[in-house]
Amino acid sequence: MSAGIISVGDELLSGRTQDTNFPFLAQQLHLLGITVDMHLTVADCRSRLTKALSTLCGTCQLVLITGGLGPTSDDITRFALADILSSPLQLHGDGLQRIKAHFSRLDRPMAQVNRIQAMIPASAHIIDNSCGTAPGISAKLEGTHIFALPGVPHEMRTMFADHVEPAIKQLGLAERAMASTRLHCCGTGESNIFALIEDLMDRSGNPLVGLTVQDGIITISINAHADSPSAARLLVDQKTRLIESRIGAFLFGRDDQTLPQVVSELLTLKKQTLALAESCTAGLIAKLLTDVPGSSKFFLADLVTYCNQAKIRLLGVSEKILTRHGAVSTQCARAMAEGAMNRTDADWTLAVTGIAGPDGGTEEKPVGLVYIALAGKALDNGGDIIDVKEFKFSGDRPHIRSRVAVRLGHAPPRFATAARLAL
Ligand code: AMP
Ligand code: MG
Repeated sequence: MSAGIISVGDELLSGRTQDTNFPFLAQQLHLLGITVDMHLTVADCRSRLTKALSTLCGTCQLVLITGGLGPTSDDITRFALADILSSPLQLHGDGLQRIKAHFSRLDRPMAQVNRIQAMIPASAHIIDNSCGTAPGISAKLEGTHIFALPGVPHEMRTMFADHVEPAIKQLGLAERAMASTRLHCCGTGESNIFALIEDLMDRSGNPLVGLTVQDGIITISINAHADSPSAARLLVDQKTRLIESRIGAFLFGRDDQTLPQVVSELLTLKKQTLALAESCTAGLIAKLLTDVPGSSKFFLADLVTYCNQAKIRLLGVSEKILTRHGAVSTQCARAMAEGAMNRTDADWTLAVTGIAGPDGGTEEKPVGLVYIALAGKALDNGGDIIDVKEFKFSGDRPHIRSRVAVRLGHAPPRFATAARLAL
């Protein structure tokens, strides 16, 4: 069973509007066990859409379209459907009544242009839109089932859930059950994770294992289909356990969990506290951690110490370190983490110092050089932890700063692991 999706709209092709309908529909089909193997974005142009439809209908048993069902001259989906179905548009009486009813609920008369929205190909059916004016259209062309929905995201989602998903199930197009899990890793590179699980990533495998990276977070997806949801889940769980045993400490979360959430959960559970000393990220790490509701349970303070004087005064970094090694150095990062611990008495402190550019880089210390220090008090009879790492990030200033921050300074995997081990 293969499916194709068409997004219609000049605004999508010009880059002005981000296509959010496609990812939604692709995920919904995925949950129904349907593989999307083609996605096209097409301009508001009748002949191009007709061509795109004929390409997809030639290979897919299911084609979903979003957009182009409005009342204006650039809304061409109904015309392209009429062309491909060789079925003229005709007025759908019930559809017209529903559009009129929608306007009367809003206390407005229906404009004459909206009449076109009740015109559908004679051989097609109307899909009711409970939250807008544009009804959808369903049709069948030889072996292909076609569903066209409006582009407005919340209308499209409601109509998919209320009408299209039940129809797909009823037509027996979603015959197999699907289950999936995502595992999130950090603290290493994509190629290293790949090397650990390469033999499990056969492209024709079931479960199918995939790898993606975003902002230094590596996500492994494990998707399986089977005859029942429980059988699919079993396949996924078995593969997940095998992968977890390979990636070990690099794993920090599953599915919708984020690194800040996991750090927050671990610290809250363990009743431990964290303070930051941020130089080049100047509050970005604090922002990510405090975005998590309930962060006041573990988050004590962020000492944003941008200039040398602030590092000396607020953290007690020695002048000797700054003159001998500079603010961007292992020694300074370590002194910042220790200073934050002295000042706040937190169980853990994380310090970041680096050169975000565009100026300030030298041959010896280029833009993108960042030192991150993690300090942990002697907890549970363990010794003090002090860990300093050097990183070289590429990209421009915002990119470097967010790369450092999104990984929470990259150190928390180590810290999360330590905290987890201490549980
Ligand atoms: P349409 O049904 O083509 O008249 O689209 C109505 C509105 O929905 C457009 O103005 C867009 O803002 C929005 N829209 C259309 N297609 C998409 C899409 N694929 N993703 C997100 N928004 C969309
Ligand atoms: Mg449009």
